[in-house]
Amino acid sequence: MADFAPESVAFAAGHYIGGANVGDGERIPVARPSDRVDYAELPVADAATVDRAVNDAARAVRDSGWASRPPRERARAMRRWADLIEARAEELGRLEALGSTRPIAQAVTGDVASVAEGLRFFSEWADKLGGEVAATRTDQLGMIVSEPYGVVGAITPWNFPLSMASWKVGPALAAGNAMVLKPSELTPFSTVRLAQLAVEAGIPAGIFNVVQGTGAVTGDALSRHPGIAKLSFTGSTRTGIAVMKAAAESGIKPVTLELGGKSPQLVFADADLDKAAACIAGSLLANAGQACVAGSRLIVQAPVAEALVAALRSRLSSVTPGPTWKAATGFAPIISEPQARRIDAIVTRSREQGAEIVMGGGRIEGHHGAFYQPTLIGNVRADTAAVREEIFGPVLTIQTFVDEEEGLALADHPEYGLAAGIYTRDLGRGLRAVRRLQAGTVWVNRYSRTLDFILPTGGYKSSGIGKDLGRQAVEQNLRHKTVLIDIAG
Ligand code: NDP
Repeated sequence: MADFAPESVAFAAGHYIGGANVGDGERIPVARPSDRVDYAELPVADAATVDRAVNDAARAVRDSGWASRPPRERARAMRRWADLIEARAEELGRLEALGSTRPIAQAVTGDVASVAEGLRFFSEWADKLGGEVAATRTDQLGMIVSEPYGVVGAITPWNFPLSMASWKVGPALAAGNAMVLKPSELTPFSTVRLAQLAVEAGIPAGIFNVVQGTGAVTGDALSRHPGIAKLSFTGSTRTGIAVMKAAAESGIKPVTLELGGKSPQLVFADADLDKAAACIAGSLLANAGQACVAGSRLIVQAPVAEALVAALRSRLSSVTPGPTWKAATGFAPIISEPQARRIDAIVTRSREQGAEIVMGGGRIEGHHGAFYQPTLIGNVRADTAAVREEIFGPVLTIQTFVDEEEGLALADHPEYGLAAGIYTRDLGRGLRAVRRLQAGTVWVNRYSRTLDFILPTGGYKSSGIGKDLGRQAVEQNLRHKTVLIDIAG
């Protein structure tokens, strides 16, 4: 993987509606996270532009036969799309690295590769979920028929722009829907390229549309649009509540919400400490902690706490920050100056509440972008800001426990339930913990997703409703019609 010059990357700085680049709307500047240089202007889609996108999508569903054509044709088109993405991995990776926090080396071989494979996974469901025949009287035939919604909407966050878009559009299109997607205003352009490649691969124009803009204007207009039959959102819990409310106020529509987390890393004294340290450090360093599933609360059994913290310190002490367009960069910038200030404010507030900064606790200086030190915080309580609030940065709190019951009680967060990690060699203890933990994903002796897209992801409690990935994501893009036929002679 080679370095690239940020100025060398070309992109379409607008909406993508009905297969055409459109530039309507008041414009706002967009900055590169790596050096905070404004590199483009983004049009903000107002209600009229969102309306145009939804109408174009509805027309495309009607005229192109996307939903009514043989499902395997849809699958083939999606596979061609995946092949094209792979063939353009370098180009897409550069675009992703340019505008987001994803270092080029990870963007090309990680993010883009997994987007292509994920779309292949979803394409395979196109002809698998037709419905079922119900057990009715023999003089009747009862059927439950799966049907696409028509036009569905999606709103995605800034932390993994291409991956998040693919998790939304893949199942929606495989099920036969058209989509209107709004990316974050902070990372808007790679999603447009993804949509252009869909058309190049033979997916009809208008089936995948991208509207650009702010959450308050464009996101709100999309959530409220009566032509959006179903909405899928990934972002913070606070915005998820606003989206759900807006969707309900404008006519009832199902809403899938992938929201925030404050996931525990529960380490028992019998665990393989080296392995636990590798997993916990890996989760903290990935995208500099800007991941919904970041395992940001270490809960460790007292006898091994010191040894584990020492192992973590050594793993966290040598990061390679730098611009995302340098191949040697391994540690991501923080997405924006306000987000870096927010991380620091939570660390400062925690210190004022009596917490002890064991490691880090401040900016990494000497870079054009905002970088934050991997940070360990001890002497915390359940009400310490860093334990309670989602930070979305490389910050890990440390709490110790004496027995299993206390560990499990500490692991349970009052608000969030997205993911959890358990480290133990005792199978029974691990399985007891799996049962008890209130989380949508529980990892045992590991902490990360794999390319097993069959495993869904989503939260318990205020971490969300519904799932991305897996069969469930496709099912959520289908609605079910009950049919009862009298077949008595
Ligand atoms: P936000 O909630 O701020 O934004 C998410 C998206 O919603 C963005 O596109 C944003 O637009 C848009 N938005 C903002 N306000 C509104 C509104 N009133 N109506 C409609 N849309 C709106 O989250 P971030 O982008 O800051 O992402 C970080 C958050 O996402 C974290 O809390 C993280 O945990 C969560 N997340 C959850 C994941 C999961 O799977 N559970 C995965 C990844 C992230 P704009 O950016 O233009 O303002």
